[in-house]
Amino acid sequence: MNDRLKPLTLTRDLLLYDTINPPGQERKCAEYLGKLLEDGGFQTAYYEYEESRTSLVARIEGKSDKAPICFTGHIDTVPLGAAHWSKDPFSGELDGDKIFGRGSTDMKGGVAAMVLAAIEISKYSRGEAGIEVVLTAGEEYGCVGAHHLAQTDGALGKAGAVVVGEPTSNYPLIGHKGLVWLEVRTSGVTAHGSMPEEGVNAIFKAGKVINKLEQFRFHESPHEFLGKPTLNVGTISGGLNINSVPDQTSICLDIRTIPGQENDEIKKRLQNYLGNEVEILTIVESRNVASDSSNEWIQEVFSIMTPYLHESPQPRGATYSTDACALTPAYNNPPTVILGPGEPDIAHKTDEFCYTSKLEESKEVYLEIAKRWCHL
Ligand SMILES: [Zn+2]
Repeated sequence: MNDRLKPLTLTRDLLLYDTINPPGQERKCAEYLGKLLEDGGFQTAYYEYEESRTSLVARIEGKSDKAPICFTGHIDTVPLGAAHWSKDPFSGELDGDKIFGRGSTDMKGGVAAMVLAAIEISKYSRGEAGIEVVLTAGEEYGCVGAHHLAQTDGALGKAGAVVVGEPTSNYPLIGHKGLVWLEVRTSGVTAHGSMPEEGVNAIFKAGKVINKLEQFRFHESPHEFLGKPTLNVGTISGGLNINSVPDQTSICLDIRTIPGQENDEIKKRLQNYLGNEVEILTIVESRNVASDSSNEWIQEVFSIMTPYLHESPQPRGATYSTDACALTPAYNNPPTVILGPGEPDIAHKTDEFCYTSKLEESKEVYLEIAKRWCHL
């Protein structure tokens, strides 16, 4: 086999592209993958939401009107962090069963495996259903590329099932929480710090707000596999200097949602709870995703995975959010599985790696999933 068409080699090739977000600069990496898919018989189209912030949609048609299966992954990565890496983050160094590099686990390994599975499928005679491969830019901060595709007329075709190759150590997960990041602002009036009675202290107001937030409770009952919604106060900032009365603070909240919760309702509820003196601004929001565990295709994926896991998978969700928050609703909410070779505990860390055995396994699994969907 052409060496480029092995998951390990392709993962290495993708690691060579520095797609650290910010600034991302995914264009060259997207074009490299696009060329491979074109050589495999796919039709490709590129979409940029900003200069060099390139997503790719590659498609191969089926012969019936059964909706295609979508395989999706992102090609940007997070920054390296301040700590020293003992391995080169861009060359795909190997050590035993591990390939190291920024993005090896999250998620160039998954992208390599799904692209190769799609290319292999295209060598068969045309299946009943087609395949749509969606490779996105800008996932790591707000799924910008996926939202852009979802909002661009004609960018996405149809999909009757979605596989997201994010790191799950090849365990099929069937959803994830949504998120709402909010900034809560309190305002005051500045004055000299020696005459605080002349001003209105925004930090004292923020203190009350933070106390209230600590007492805040969601009343929803826990979701079957996503559990309860949560609220975390992530950052606070405010004040001008030590000898002034502060006139503004900003408190940033990270809320994780479950099905049944609407983001607008949550914001309204918080505004009522905290009162009209605070201003609430939305920073980022994305929807939750939860597939029905009894869905026929989900059950089929579970049965494909059983021999690999030596047990039947249980309905579980990912702790993180994925591009499915934008893509699954854009496809009209088909069943969605998050399944990829990376290690969820290793994502975003120093000396990130992926097990090479998991890479091979995920390609095999994607191939089987695609074959069954396309009736090959
Ligand atoms: Zn990721």
